[in-house]
Amino acid sequence: MSVLLSFDITLVSLPTTFSLAVVAVIGYLVGRWQKVEVVQSDLQSRREIKRAQMIAKELETIAREVRKSLARHHTSVNRFKTRISDLAKRGQDIGLQEVCREAEDILGPTMVLATDLAKAYDQIRRQSHGLLSFVEVRTDQLTGICNRKSLDDSLEQLVALHNRYDLRFSLAMFDIDYFKKINDEQGHVAGDQILRNVAQTIDGTARDTDVVTRYGGEEFVVLMPQTELTGACVFAERVRQLVQRKLKVSVSGGVAIVTQAETAQMLLERVDAALYQAKTAGRNRVFVHVGHGIEAVESILDPVADDAAIEAEQSA
Ligand code: GH3
Ligand code: MG
Ligand code: MG
Repeated sequence: MSVLLSFDITLVSLPTTFSLAVVAVIGYLVGRWQKVEVVQSDLQSRREIKRAQMIAKELETIAREVRKSLARHHTSVNRFKTRISDLAKRGQDIGLQEVCREAEDILGPTMVLATDLAKAYDQIRRQSHGLLSFVEVRTDQLTGICNRKSLDDSLEQLVALHNRYDLRFSLAMFDIDYFKKINDEQGHVAGDQILRNVAQTIDGTARDTDVVTRYGGEEFVVLMPQTELTGACVFAERVRQLVQRKLKVSVSGGVAIVTQAETAQMLLERVDAALYQAKTAGRNRVFVHVGHGIEAVESILDPVADDAAIEAEQSA
């Protein structure tokens, strides 16, 4: 009987112990991952943020399952204990007193495990909630790409990295042409869908390491770490052409590369000036701020250089 009892309890408690170990490891990894990611995440692309979102959701599911199995385990152990006590009261078997003590011995450590498990569950829940709200405050609800806050944070970090380690980066700003007219003629729902489509096109064209953001109503900004001005021009031109070809709208674009001792605000102003030039030049164009002035993208991307830059982009 005592052998049977130990066997039963071991069977019941093994998954709990195992779950506890899994939960503890996951909790530890998430804790570590979250600490590192909170520091670095501002440089991450939307894809990475989505991955984080998925991990957080998976953790919630695991935690829920663990809590359910803990509740089941608790109930079955209690039921077993009651049954043994009843038998003992009826005095059916002298050895049952011993079995009861054994059950108590087994139940004690099990309850410690249960408490640890509950703590681990709460920790996971706190971590995943933190992760989700971290992602939420940085995501644009309409398009799913990064929002203005995320851009501001990432840009500050890239500027700091540039000033300290000379890490270069470029920036492109896009604005949908005549969007007010589109809204007026087709309605806001259609306008929202166009915003999503443009966001998707830009995001699909960008590298995983780029930060694609909705800057304002119908304006988008892309940060491109380790990208020279020519590469950024190739990217912006590619986006402009894709939008024109795939969607029934056009975008104008401005491009610039960070320069020495430049603040985030100064860089945004330069790229905005290039975009403004694209608008005044008739829209559906890309202009580049080259430091001393603004030029049409065509003056930077002659066909030969363009091909080479595209090849360089693709092999990078
Ligand atoms: P331009 O070619 O000079 O950029 O002209 P535009 O009409 O695109 O620019 P303007 O700044 O005059 O208008 C921007 C419009 O974007 C006005 C506003 O109704 C629309 N808009 C801003 N945010 C949203 C949004 O979230 N959804 C929709 N559907 N429209 C938006
Ligand atoms: Mg605008
Ligand atoms: Mg516009």
